[in-house]
Amino acid sequence: MHFFGYRGKNFYAEGVSVGKIAREAGTPVYIYSDRTLKRHYHAFSAAFAKVPHLICYSVKANSNVSVLGAFAGEGSGFDIVSGGELFRALKAGADPKKIVFSGVGKREDEIEYALRSRILMFNVESPQELRAIDRIAGRLKKRAGFAIRVNPDVDPKTHPYISTGLKKNKFGIEAAEAVKEYIYAKKSLKNVDAIGIDCHIGSQITQLEPFVDALKKTRELFLTLRGQGLDIKYLDMGGGLGITYDQEAPPHPSRYGEAVIEGTKGLGVTLIFEPGRSMVGNAGILVARVLYTKEGTQKNFVIVDAAMNDLARPSLYGSYHAVKAVKDAYKGAEVTADVVGPICESGDFLAKDRIIPRVKPGDYIAVMSAGAYGFSMSSNYNTRPRAAEVMVKGREYSVIRERETLKDLIRNERFVKGKAARKKKRA
Ligand SMILES: *Cc1c(COP(=O)(O)O)cnc(C)c1O
Repeated sequence: MHFFGYRGKNFYAEGVSVGKIAREAGTPVYIYSDRTLKRHYHAFSAAFAKVPHLICYSVKANSNVSVLGAFAGEGSGFDIVSGGELFRALKAGADPKKIVFSGVGKREDEIEYALRSRILMFNVESPQELRAIDRIAGRLKKRAGFAIRVNPDVDPKTHPYISTGLKKNKFGIEAAEAVKEYIYAKKSLKNVDAIGIDCHIGSQITQLEPFVDALKKTRELFLTLRGQGLDIKYLDMGGGLGITYDQEAPPHPSRYGEAVIEGTKGLGVTLIFEPGRSMVGNAGILVARVLYTKEGTQKNFVIVDAAMNDLARPSLYGSYHAVKAVKDAYKGAEVTADVVGPICESGDFLAKDRIIPRVKPGDYIAVMSAGAYGFSMSSNYNTRPRAAEVMVKGREYSVIRERETLKDLIRNERFVKGKAARKKKRA
């Protein structure tokens, strides 16, 4: 459910014409709907209204401070995977007591920053990391809450790059070893408190079954730990709930909620969730302008001013994004084409062999479901300034990230210092 759609022939984001935003803010531009963000948050939260729970929006899906601020304002916590994300979340008004820190490679300075910020807990991914957190907490005279991220060896049936809960993946610790670590921590690590169990099996999961399987294993682990006298307060089920890009029919959060509530009955824990994609994916679009159209003997191409540096998902995972005309003025005329960007790679496409309206140079297109892993994965490849981002709220919109300028592109670069440079200066 989202608030993008046609009013007559014009495509709108809530109450604002997308064409107007594109003309005023330029292209490529990401446009988010505030109302959609909040609706998604509340749909998820409502699914767990009956039980103690905390939603920790996964910052990496879309980390603009205004997006984070929208969630923080609704009471959301945050799942971070770097010191940079912690910085953003705090700037956006996050309550540190609602922040969990995930990721396989936390650096010492990041752990220290998180401890000083008094976050809720670290989702620990290796025995060495747990010892590092204990050591750093000891040095700072602080206590660190932690959960071990267990790898339940469950196949989430999603793209291999975003599947994380299989033994062959780099994430988490296998259950049997996790038990040993919890017991070791209790006995021997003086600065950490085992307060949770964490499990995140992958992303864009469109069936309930993998979640239910992972939950079973997490429940077993919980009961084992309780038997060992450990007082686990939080079960963090991670994120991963899929969205509809094309024909997928992922479970509604309410169905997911029923399954999780059933699977955790009687445990007396607070549930934590780390949804990213399902919060923001369909709350954002990427708008581009058609530069040229090219009809080849084998293929037609629509060349637009957005590219894989702006939206990497099609190139990276071969993923599908619907493409719509921002002004529906084609009287049903269609073309089968690849929608491509200007980047010097054949992998640079936004859509392949797609039937779309017969657009002309100067027309705008909207690439749908681009709110998650869109801007946050963008780069400056081909020295392209990163796109602007806009938030629509009712009948108004604001630019929430300025388009990068040419100066921005080389802002942190320096000419080499040395003999040659000095010589040149003297001359
Ligand atoms: C990426 C990630 C998430 C969010 O996944 P979505 O599929 O976007 O919901 C949650 N938790 C962890 C640990 C992650 O790495």
